Amino acid sequence: MKAELISVGTELLLGNIVNTNASFLAEQCARLGISVYYQSVVGDNKERLSETLKTALSRSDVVILTGGLGPTKDDLTKETVAEVLGRQLVEDAHSRKRIEAYFAGSRHRIIPDNNWKQAQIPEGAIAVDNENGTAPGIIAEHNGKTVIMLPGPPNEMIPMFTISIAPFLNRLQPEVIYSQTVKICGLGESLVETMIGDLIDGQSNPTVAPYAKTGEVHLRITAKAPDKESAFRLIEPVSAELAKRFGNHIYSTDDKETLEESIASLLKKKNLTIATAESCTGGLVSGRLVNVPGVSDVFKAGFVTYANEAKTEFLGVSEETLRAYGAVSEQTAEEMARGGASKAGCDLCISVTGIAGPDGGTDDKPVGLVYMGCFLNGKVTVRKFIFKGNRSKIRENAVVNALIFVRD
Ligand code: ATP
Ligand code: MG
Repeated sequence: MKAELISVGTELLLGNIVNTNASFLAEQCARLGISVYYQSVVGDNKERLSETLKTALSRSDVVILTGGLGPTKDDLTKETVAEVLGRQLVEDAHSRKRIEAYFAGSRHRIIPDNNWKQAQIPEGAIAVDNENGTAPGIIAEHNGKTVIMLPGPPNEMIPMFTISIAPFLNRLQPEVIYSQTVKICGLGESLVETMIGDLIDGQSNPTVAPYAKTGEVHLRITAKAPDKESAFRLIEPVSAELAKRFGNHIYSTDDKETLEESIASLLKKKNLTIATAESCTGGLVSGRLVNVPGVSDVFKAGFVTYANEAKTEFLGVSEETLRAYGAVSEQTAEEMARGGASKAGCDLCISVTGIAGPDGGTDDKPVGLVYMGCFLNGKVTVRKFIFKGNRSKIRENAVVNALIFVRD
C-alpha cells in the first residue's frame, strides 16, 4: 500500500514551525508496513492544495493531510478536499454534539459561530473523534483511494492517529511489517557489509539493511507477515545467524537501547563502578554515560583534565612522564586511567588523550592520534587510534571508541 503525506500550513512553508507531524506520520506508516513515497508541504492556498491533492490521488492509495481543519478562514483543507472529490460539505450530527460537549466542559460556554464549521464533513465521509480539540478528523473513500484529514496541532493529531487512524490503516493493510535492530559496535561499515553480503544478496522476506552511525552499524531485519508472531518467526533465524557472525560485537538487539545503556546495565550486572579521565573529549564520554537514567549506581566521577598541570594535579600523572613522552602518549593514557580510578575509588576508569586538531599535529603524532587507557583489576590496557576527519568527527569517534573499550 502506497501512502503520501500532505502537510498544510503557510507557517510550515515559511519555516516558522518544524514539520514534526510529517516525521511522526512517516515513521508510523513505516511501522504499519505502509510505504510513504511522497511528502509535500503546501501553504493555506486552495488552488495549490487542490493541485497537490489531485497529483497525490493519481499515484497513491492513501493520502494523509494534516492541518487546516480549524474554524478560521485560512483553514481550508476540508473545503478543498470536498471540491476535489466532488462532494458537498454536510453537517455531521455526532461531531456537532461533541463540539457542544467540548465547550460545555470548558470555561468558554458561548460557542463561536465559526466552530460549527468544524462539524461539517464531505458527504459520505467518516468523522473521527478528536479527544483533545474540536475539529474531528475525517476519512473519505474515493474511487478505491482513501483521503485522511487530521488536525494540525500535534497534541490533537498524534492521539487521534494512534487511537483511530492506525487501526483503520491496519485493516486496510493485509500484511504487517515488523523489524528488529541488531546493533553492532567496533566494526566498520564496509566490513560488516562484507560479512553479511550473502544475506543481503537475494533476500526478500525478511530483509537485512545496514545503517551506519559513528562507530556503530545497525542491521535492521524486517519481515512481512499476516501477523506479528509470524513476522518474528521469520526474523528469528536471521537474528540468530547475525549473532553467530558478530558475537560480542553485538551490544543490543533492542530497538531503543543505546550503547551507553548497554554499558550501564553490563556494569550493574557485574557490580562494577566506573570513572572517566578525559582530555581531548572534554567530558563527552562521561556525558554519554550520564545520558542513562539511574547511572549513578555505576558512574562515580568524570575528570576533565585538559592542561598538563591538571593531569598532574587531579590524576597524579607524573611530570616526568609528561616531559618524556608528552600528553598524547601511551604512558600518559595509562597514568590517567590509573589516577582516575584511584581518585574516584572506582573499579574501572577509561582515559582519553589525543590530538583533535586542526593544529597540534606533527609527523610522528598526527592530528587524530588518540590513546585510551582502561583500568581494571589493577591493570591498564592501552589502545591507540588514528581517527580521520575534522575536530568534531575525531572527538565523536574517540567517544564511541572509549565506550566500546569499556564494553570490551
Ligand atoms: P487549529 O484548529 O488549531 O487551527 P488546524 O487543524 O487548522 O488547527 P493549523 O491551523 O494548520 O491546524 O495548525 C495549527 C497549529 O498546529 C500550528 O500553528 C502548529 O503549531 C501546529 N501544526 C500544524 N501543522 C503542523 C505540522 N505539520 N507539524 C507540527 N506542528 C504543526
Ligand atoms: Mg488552523
